[in-house]
Amino acid sequence: MIEPFAARLAAAQGGTHALIDLDAFAGNIAYVRSQLPEGAEVIAVIKANAYGHGLVPCGRAALAAGASRLAVARIEEALLLRAAGVVAPILVLSPANPALARQAAESGIALAVGSATGLNRLLDALGDDLPPLPVHLKVDTGMHRFGVEPEGVVELARALAREPRVQVEGVFTHFATADAADDRVLQEQTRRFAAAVQALAAAGLQPPLVHMANSAAILRGVVEIPAPGATIAVRAGLILYGLNPSRELPLPAPIRPVLRLVTRVGQVFTVPPGEGISYGWSYIAERPIRCADLPIGYADGLVRLLSNQGWAVVGGAVCPIRGRICMDQTVIEVEAAPDVAEGDEAVLLSDGRDGAMTADQAAALAGTINYEIVSSLAARIPRVYLRGGRPVAVLDLLGLVEDPSAAC
Ligand SMILES: *Cc1c(COP(=O)(O)O)cnc(C)c1O
Repeated sequence: MIEPFAARLAAAQGGTHALIDLDAFAGNIAYVRSQLPEGAEVIAVIKANAYGHGLVPCGRAALAAGASRLAVARIEEALLLRAAGVVAPILVLSPANPALARQAAESGIALAVGSATGLNRLLDALGDDLPPLPVHLKVDTGMHRFGVEPEGVVELARALAREPRVQVEGVFTHFATADAADDRVLQEQTRRFAAAVQALAAAGLQPPLVHMANSAAILRGVVEIPAPGATIAVRAGLILYGLNPSRELPLPAPIRPVLRLVTRVGQVFTVPPGEGISYGWSYIAERPIRCADLPIGYADGLVRLLSNQGWAVVGGAVCPIRGRICMDQTVIEVEAAPDVAEGDEAVLLSDGRDGAMTADQAAALAGTINYEIVSSLAARIPRVYLRGGRPVAVLDLLGLVEDPSAAC
């Protein structure tokens, strides 16, 4: 099953693949750390396959670059990290599946608790035979999705403190509008959270870790929480991948995009005038046009709404997507790239310097956000990890293989 690294790398590079620049990723983490007050920690948010960048390699790289903890959305994601040998603290941010609570406790995976009912469902699943389950108290200061209301935080913290099957490790909240130009809700949430943390402290229940800021709040410098004696942390997600969480804030120059999505030109052909391209003939050739078929489709995460809107770059030329993106294939017009040949590289997403779509541009065309563009990239796309511009690991459907001659 485990083939040599060189073979898996060649296979990845022969077709559709994503290049993940681990130096850029590490640089982005270093930038976030540089913005934090003394002693504050970075929790690297690597949910959803590290926003499409690959869970285990990004988890390891984040820790190596100075993140102290990892956060995911599902217990299974945390279990995958543990299975890969990651021993650092991991927090599951979303409401947890009680059917996996035992496994979480056994593996020392922290779960978020936002209500007495949620706590009791977890406790029902836990036995006295397990190590205490680490938990983070989630306070709903205005996101209105998941968490205890500030008025109930002390009572829930008391219930947690009484319970030997859990061990409170942290308290956190999540911002609803940190990306917006108007910061009034952000300020109000910050105020409510500070008050909740203070109430916990007054009751002698302040957990050791207190965290609040997401990427947009980090960019705005809203990271500090008055919590004497506690460690402050930030939960950095999108910014670590070099993407901007907000249309209202500039991305600082040191932040660099990490992912490049590349495929290989397949068959090259001419569509006669009057004929349409792909399902539904949504694009009709008005003159004979040279086209190329690309082995990438919406099942790979190339969002179907980019049909007749997005583009690829082939040999430096912008080549528009013609007709509907199919599940596994996409047709581009290559009139601008007359020398194109089968096997040539076609770039679908990049930092834009080569003329390819940025995640922001693709998102704007598809009526969504850059988060969805990258997190939609499917597991069947092999990821090639680069250090110093050199491939050091490949993550494909068969698993992760590392260059035996490189330390990844
Ligand atoms: C996803 C998530 C984050 C990270 O958000 P970014 O905007 O990507 O930085 C932080 N906290 C919680 C609770 C999340 O669900």
